[in-house]
Amino acid sequence: MYLSAANHRIPLSDGNSIPILGLGTYSEPKSTPSGVCLASVRMAIDTGYRHIDGAYIYKNEHEVGEAIREKIAEGKVRREDIFYCGKLWATNLVPHRVRPALEKTLQVLQLDYIDLYIIEVPMAFKPGDETYPRDENGKWLYHKTNLCATWEVECHPYFTQTKLLKFCQQHDIVIVAYSPLGTSRNPTWVNVSSPPLLKDELLNSLGKKYNKTAAQIALRFNIQRGVVVIPKSSKPERIKENFQIFDFSLTEEEMKSIEALNKNIRFVELLMWSDHPEYPFHEEY
Ligand code: NDP
Repeated sequence: MYLSAANHRIPLSDGNSIPILGLGTYSEPKSTPSGVCLASVRMAIDTGYRHIDGAYIYKNEHEVGEAIREKIAEGKVRREDIFYCGKLWATNLVPHRVRPALEKTLQVLQLDYIDLYIIEVPMAFKPGDETYPRDENGKWLYHKTNLCATWEVECHPYFTQTKLLKFCQQHDIVIVAYSPLGTSRNPTWVNVSSPPLLKDELLNSLGKKYNKTAAQIALRFNIQRGVVVIPKSSKPERIKENFQIFDFSLTEEEMKSIEALNKNIRFVELLMWSDHPEYPFHEEY
């Protein structure tokens, strides 16, 4: 598969295609000043990113839409050049709430369509407008839905997902890896007792060899095996850095040694919802 900065779309089995590198946009809403996401998406599109990963509950989707519309108005890109992935939140999994939730996203983005709409977490919460519903004792209010197995997949050198990747490749399914750099290590939702991925010795030594960073090696590893990555950054130099992964390649041996780093570490464990009947991570994928 030849991937370049100008052309790094990979085919999907329905005839569409997806850019193998996207910008993640999740940032703790309480501590992120308004305008940060707008600037990041502008910078990303100027750098050459054509895939943006967002969600209504990130509370910055309006900024994503504004940046995309601005870049279209400037003539920098056409709408069809951009791939936007939005997400259906857990309180909207009952069928009659799906369409209104998607319409809300379109209204917030001020775009006519999005390219992909995924189930954000495969565990339903009590339907309604409360994003994180709890009862008077603080207990989470879960909900039973007839949910088909639909999920996204965390994937990075400490969680290589070899078995799942093989299965998906055999069935022409493309994997999108969230948290490809090992997350922001926010203790409210990340298991921070796990070792930080970007401090890994091998990733750093390969970085030295190629004059790249550990982050670029981690991203290159995934795209070189056909896995889409959506690293998040709001720092201009890192947005650019994370895009500079098309001008080198890892040897087969190096790919194997990175794969051997696997420790089955899932940074996003969502342990606070582990008693949900549909909690997806009790099972091996
Ligand atoms: P990432 O693995 O993308 O890591 C992001 C963190 O790494 C941030 O703290 C960022 O800081 C830092 N960073 C970015 N680039 C570099 C670099 N080159 N060198 C060193 N540090 C760097 O974690 P996320 O969990 O944010 O995952 C990416 C995206 O995936 C999310 O933003 C979201 O869009 C999506 N996602 C979806 C989920 C779901 O729906 N189930 C779950 C989790 C994620 P800084 O910004 O300061 O540069």
